Amino acid sequence: MKLLEPIVAWRQDIAAIRRDIHAHPELAFEEFRTADVVAAKLQEWGIETDRGLGGTGVVGIVRGNRPGERAVGLRADMDALPMQEANTFAHASRHEGKMHACGHDGHTAMLLAAARYLSQHRDFAGTVYLIFQPAEEGGGGAKRMIDDGLFTRFPMEAVFGMHNWPGLPVGAFGLTAGPIMASSNEFSIVIKGKGSHAGMPNLGIDPVMAAVQLAQSLQTIITRNRNPLDAAVLSITQIHAGSADNVVPNHAELRGTVRTFTLEVLDLIERRMQEISRHTCAALGCEMTFEFHRNYPPTINHADEAAFCAEVLRGIVGAENVNDHVQPTMGAEDFAFMLQEKPGCYVWIGNGAGEHRDSGHGLGPCMLHNGSYDFNDELLPLGGTYWVQLALQWLARP
Ligand SMILES: [Zn+2]
Ligand SMILES: [Zn+2]
Repeated sequence: MKLLEPIVAWRQDIAAIRRDIHAHPELAFEEFRTADVVAAKLQEWGIETDRGLGGTGVVGIVRGNRPGERAVGLRADMDALPMQEANTFAHASRHEGKMHACGHDGHTAMLLAAARYLSQHRDFAGTVYLIFQPAEEGGGGAKRMIDDGLFTRFPMEAVFGMHNWPGLPVGAFGLTAGPIMASSNEFSIVIKGKGSHAGMPNLGIDPVMAAVQLAQSLQTIITRNRNPLDAAVLSITQIHAGSADNVVPNHAELRGTVRTFTLEVLDLIERRMQEISRHTCAALGCEMTFEFHRNYPPTINHADEAAFCAEVLRGIVGAENVNDHVQPTMGAEDFAFMLQEKPGCYVWIGNGAGEHRDSGHGLGPCMLHNGSYDFNDELLPLGGTYWVQLALQWLARP
């Protein structure tokens, strides 16, 4: 493994920053303290700093000493999740009901490691933009930064993202050209019937019957309408109706999520859901309202940039540790919005199997969004080195 020596030498400092952020998690668009920590470090290292894009976003601007128009963006996310941490180690969350269970504390720290290195090694031509974004966990902070002028105020040729990946060994990376994460979308179908005595259902219109039929027939979109070669999932995760054993309720509601890798498949699913809902409810005498909310688009890596990232990674960890054809997942990621605007690539950095946690509650699964998760500090020099090498090699391209 070819790590940059200065970053290795700072590993305790960077780990201390990471653990401090872990201990003080902040939710989407509330990353005030985290943004203060990031900005203070950037300024301490002499890096020009812009604040306020997307609310709490921070952009560090590192210009090389040699003249050059080229520019590249590196992005980290800063927000935590509204969940309780189960860990009991010293840096466990001090904020009840908030936790860095997705490793955004580590993402922030890895980009800070790169920032420090770049600030001291400016023998390059061009500009590196260090993007610290709010609200990746459902809030669409990337989109907010873009809407606030991220790419117009800081013109860059390409933008890159990275997420830690539990289960992938430390020292290994995964990526692929094309879709790597799915689109995420939520729906709500409210069925209006006519309540009645449950002993006399003939006097009412039963919305529960419509809900049950819908829950089944909506799956035919996946099995009968979708091209079997296109990945898609439709999960009904909530059904609500009724309050008593002897009452046919007035209403029933179905809620859930749809995930796809392309907008074409998403268009098909949304249209068919609407048709099936309308006609099923009509057939049973019910009315309905249908709401479909598109949250994040699919995260689609650009082929040339994916090939470039894989090459940079092979230079650091060797070809045997870079899988450039990983199977994508049905998780979602708001870096997708940045890849809709700019070429770029999003990679996974292996977080290991949880062996780095040295104390706590009997450990437990070290998975993303799990109460016993922790970011692996061993990744800090590795992720920092990748960011630096990626930026410098991008700017040095002919
Ligand atoms: Zn997450
Ligand atoms: Zn995450």
